Amino acid sequence: MPEQPDPRAAEIYRRLLAAYGEPTWRPFYAPMDELVLTFLSQNTSDLNSGRAFGALRARYPTWQAVLDAPVAELADTIRSGGLAQQKAPRIQRALRRILAERGEFNLDFLANLPTEEALRWLTSFDGIGHKTASIVLLFCFNKPAFPVDTHVGRVTRRLGLAGPKDAEEKIKGLWEGLAPAAWFYPLHLNLIRHGREVCHAQRPECGVCVLRDACEYPQKPQ
Ligand code: SF4
Repeated sequence: MPEQPDPRAAEIYRRLLAAYGEPTWRPFYAPMDELVLTFLSQNTSDLNSGRAFGALRARYPTWQAVLDAPVAELADTIRSGGLAQQKAPRIQRALRRILAERGEFNLDFLANLPTEEALRWLTSFDGIGHKTASIVLLFCFNKPAFPVDTHVGRVTRRLGLAGPKDAEEKIKGLWEGLAPAAWFYPLHLNLIRHGREVCHAQRPECGVCVLRDACEYPQKPQ
């Protein structure tokens, strides 16, 4: 973590904050809920995964009940989130492992682990990558993990902070070295917003972009 923020990162952080304000995400859930939501959110929209999560919580009063449910019934319950045949057994495998390792459905122990160790533990689950693991660590435990999704990756590459072929996992480490941890939450959310609203994958709107003069994207109109 840098003692002093990188000057370019600081400029980007300030301009996005001026443009979009202090962002707020959806309400945080308890860590176990966030973990299960993470499985449900793969390859679908927040709306669909939220629906699937609501249906799961409405049908099963406890995590033990989710674990004990027939897998076909669980898949049917979460079908609005898509890929239910894949996600239902993944969720049950994760619950089984957590119970076997921890003796309870509780992830509070992650708060006491170093961030890298907590990240390794989360990403050892089938279906959890660095992005979603970082979301759980940053949002639930306030740990210094910078989640990088496709929008954050694209904007960072176009700005020239990362190379054009740098993988999202590398970009995660890059932001963690450029910005202080206190910025991770707002910067992550504002970079996503910028990617969705202005720096689109196709035809970015460079003409109205607040980062334009700080951006090295070669196709940017002059
Ligand atoms: S100038 Fe264009 S490419 Fe660069 S960040 Fe802004 S929208 Fe994206």
